[in-house]
Amino acid sequence: MEVDRSLKAHGGKSRARMRKLTDKATPAFPGELERARVHERALLAAIVDSSDDAIVSKTLEGKILSWNRGATRIFGWEPHEAIGKPITIIIPPELHAEEREILRKLSRGERIDHFDTVRVAKDGRRVAISLTVSPVRDAEGRVIAASKIARDVSERKLAEEKLRASEEALRLADRRKDEFLALLAHELRNPLAPIRYALAANKKPGRSPEQCRQADEIIERQVAHMSRLLDDLLDISRITRGTLELKRTRVELTSVVGAAIETARPLLDEKHHTLVLDLPTQPLQLEADVVRLAQVFSNLLINAAKYTDPGGRIQLRAARQDDDVIVSVSDSGIGIPADLLPRVFNMFFQSHAALARAEGGLGVGLSLVRGLVRLHGGSVEARSDGPGRGSEFTVRLPLVAARHEPADAVVEVEALSGDAGLKLLVVDDNRDAADTCAMLLEASGHHVQTAYTGRQALELARVFRPHAMLLDIGLPDMDGYKLAQQVRATPWGRAAVLVAVTGWGQEQDRQRAVAAGFDQHLVKPISADTVEALLQSLMRGTAA
Ligand code: ADP
Repeated sequence: MEVDRSLKAHGGKSRARMRKLTDKATPAFPGELERARVHERALLAAIVDSSDDAIVSKTLEGKILSWNRGATRIFGWEPHEAIGKPITIIIPPELHAEEREILRKLSRGERIDHFDTVRVAKDGRRVAISLTVSPVRDAEGRVIAASKIARDVSERKLAEEKLRASEEALRLADRRKDEFLALLAHELRNPLAPIRYALAANKKPGRSPEQCRQADEIIERQVAHMSRLLDDLLDISRITRGTLELKRTRVELTSVVGAAIETARPLLDEKHHTLVLDLPTQPLQLEADVVRLAQVFSNLLINAAKYTDPGGRIQLRAARQDDDVIVSVSDSGIGIPADLLPRVFNMFFQSHAALARAEGGLGVGLSLVRGLVRLHGGSVEARSDGPGRGSEFTVRLPLVAARHEPADAVVEVEALSGDAGLKLLVVDDNRDAADTCAMLLEASGHHVQTAYTGRQALELARVFRPHAMLLDIGLPDMDGYKLAQQVRATPWGRAAVLVAVTGWGQEQDRQRAVAAGFDQHLVKPISADTVEALLQSLMRGTAA
């Protein structure tokens, strides 16, 4: 092959000469023999020179004797620059020992067959080559020099490297998938044990209503946890396949945050964390899918709660920045080492410190957060000062093009939701629930009254004229829907904010609440923060 190529390269004349030479296998006269030798040498020189490979000869001391065009092409040195120089001009310093070994073998007459190594070009570039070195002998058979043929194998090496990298990536993905399946089985099995115990306990005779309620709560909590895991899994697969669609409406940030807090509240309470809210006083409007956006913030809040030891401090801050809103969730928890920060949003990523914690997870929450935030045209970043120093996740979302609120409307809002507090009526036939809710709202600076029946609520409200009423739906004398209709029928009740508090979160329950005249529908258990955020946003809406 090589010969064919070189012949072609040298055109018709050389080919004709070659034919002549090979035809004359046994020259008749010594002069003719000499001429044939000269031709043969010229032909060999032509072959060497036109070879794609670098063909170089050197003395046994390593001094370059000849240098073909291939060598210039691969290593960059011209023949006049290379010839006479030590061969080490193309050998990287760390491989000088290899060259000494080659020279030793050559002196013993040994040939060094194809091996892959690296040489360095004139411009310092590393070149991957396949090298053959053979001894050159004189007429008496003594080794007097060496010839090396070097083939540039950079492209092959690159292809091999790519193949190796993609094989490695596949192996890693496969291992991750196995680990993930094991984790998934573990995480889905975990909640089953408490559910089984609670069911078995409830079947035992002589259980008090309180004991049954506790068991029911355990079941509810665990089922909610399982459905969250499954929802996350389904969502992440929808995001990856690009089939998740947002149902965008115009929403107020505080109602999104309120819904997120409601979801995270059980875990925040269980771990006795303090949640500090710092929300802007002016309403911030987003064009968003309220359920999906609430999922973003509840995931961040749940992570903050999970990765912070009990009694920690978790802060949710929101502030307007030009045409965006920046929402950050920070915690005083285990923190994230700097080298892991860039990977936390990757699917299935979990740090060892996180894996060691009982709360567990599937490692898809943050990747879901990023996917959902991006679908909303925003971005999310993670920050931490390192292990044990807490973490902060910052979400940036575009606001609906700024509307210029009249200044006096803002003043009115502030007056209504300022220090004076709101007049609130809490209605629930569960006295404990009503009283504790009232205590919490009072602690936030509101004036609160409680009623335990529908009739009592109507009587009280007539004189108290609450800004807002929180109504339980399952009341003994009339259901909350009827109560809401009756409130709406009064002159004072038309302006009041009515919030339904129920155990049912289905869409039809919400619709029924809206049809009965409620402004909002909250699913139990609700938290003071949720109510507070909701009231603030509703009162602002009313005032504006
Ligand atoms: P999961 O919580 O199910 O493991 P996520 O995708 O929500 O999965 O989070 C990925 C990883 O990021 C976690 O395993 C944990 O290592 C780290 N992480 C997330 N949030 C926090 C946080 N608030 N503090 C410390 N580490 C966190």
